[in-house]
Amino acid sequence: MLNPFSSCLLNIMTRVIVDSCSASLPAANFALQRCRARAPSSVARLRTPAAGWGMTLRRTLVAPAHSASEPEHRHPHLESRYAVELPHYEPRDNSDIPEVFGNVHSTESFSAVDGPGVRFLVFVQGCAMRCLFCSNPDTWNLKGGTRTSSKELAQEIRRVRNYLRPRGGITISGGEALLQPHFVATMFQETHAMGLNTCVDTTGQGTKHGNWDVVLPHTDLVLFCIKHMDPLKYEALTGMKQRGALKFADELAARKIPFYLRYVYIPGYTDAPKDIDKLIAWAKKQPTFQGIELLPYHVLGRNKWEVMQIPYPLDGVSTPSHEAVRNVIKAFNDADISVICAN
Ligand code: SF4
Repeated sequence: MLNPFSSCLLNIMTRVIVDSCSASLPAANFALQRCRARAPSSVARLRTPAAGWGMTLRRTLVAPAHSASEPEHRHPHLESRYAVELPHYEPRDNSDIPEVFGNVHSTESFSAVDGPGVRFLVFVQGCAMRCLFCSNPDTWNLKGGTRTSSKELAQEIRRVRNYLRPRGGITISGGEALLQPHFVATMFQETHAMGLNTCVDTTGQGTKHGNWDVVLPHTDLVLFCIKHMDPLKYEALTGMKQRGALKFADELAARKIPFYLRYVYIPGYTDAPKDIDKLIAWAKKQPTFQGIELLPYHVLGRNKWEVMQIPYPLDGVSTPSHEAVRNVIKAFNDADISVICAN
């Protein structure tokens, strides 16, 4: 735990670095934000991304997203839905599936944006990451939320299952869903028994490798939040090393599980063209990669940080312009990658 004096000293030291070297301003600022984000719950260490961080952060993208002959509101590869076709399951008796309990933050009966078709969403508690842009810091505590029976939750889903057919199912998100592997796997078995498909929204991180063996055999689709392709920026942005995420991608390939990448597009943090190029090159090599869901940064979760009395680390960062979002969509489309984006 960082005491107030240490925190103040650290902030002053970082401010000195910021003031004394304008070329490294984004890097030093970023390290300061990182420390603030972690200060309430863990020992803060000053992270210093490699030299070069920030050099392309504000590079202006000028390529037009559309040709003059193409209507601005249309783009040939911009998908409004998840095109992947998932397996079909016949409803079956579920009496052999055990009852387990999990800590659930909240549920939503109908979502059209978290996997194919209409989906029932379950947000579970617990996350080991500390993303600077997190919209749900209230899910970080694994022991928070409501203790929930898998049987009772399955009954709730069963009541609306006819609205979820034919393409829909359940999506479990978090927090980090893989931190409660037995609850998630059991809910997925219940879902298959209802004749619906399953999807997990995960970073693949902060969890034991063995958790994958529990959840992935029952998983039809993964929404894989990749955070960043640069290892140092990944760590600075999330507080965790990137290598676990890349191993998780190898696991998806080995198990032939289709996945969409989720990428939060934050001005000054994740929008550098060279990082987008790296992401494209990596994604194209993944055998079960389906497309990218681009999530333009927003500040909707900011009030939660205030309620939890944690300084918001991205104070002053603006949401990306429509033009910037269109340009990055074009970069993906030019590489023949479909993009889902609500912007
Ligand atoms: S992985 Fe998700 S829940 Fe965890 S800190 Fe990052 S954005 Fe928040």
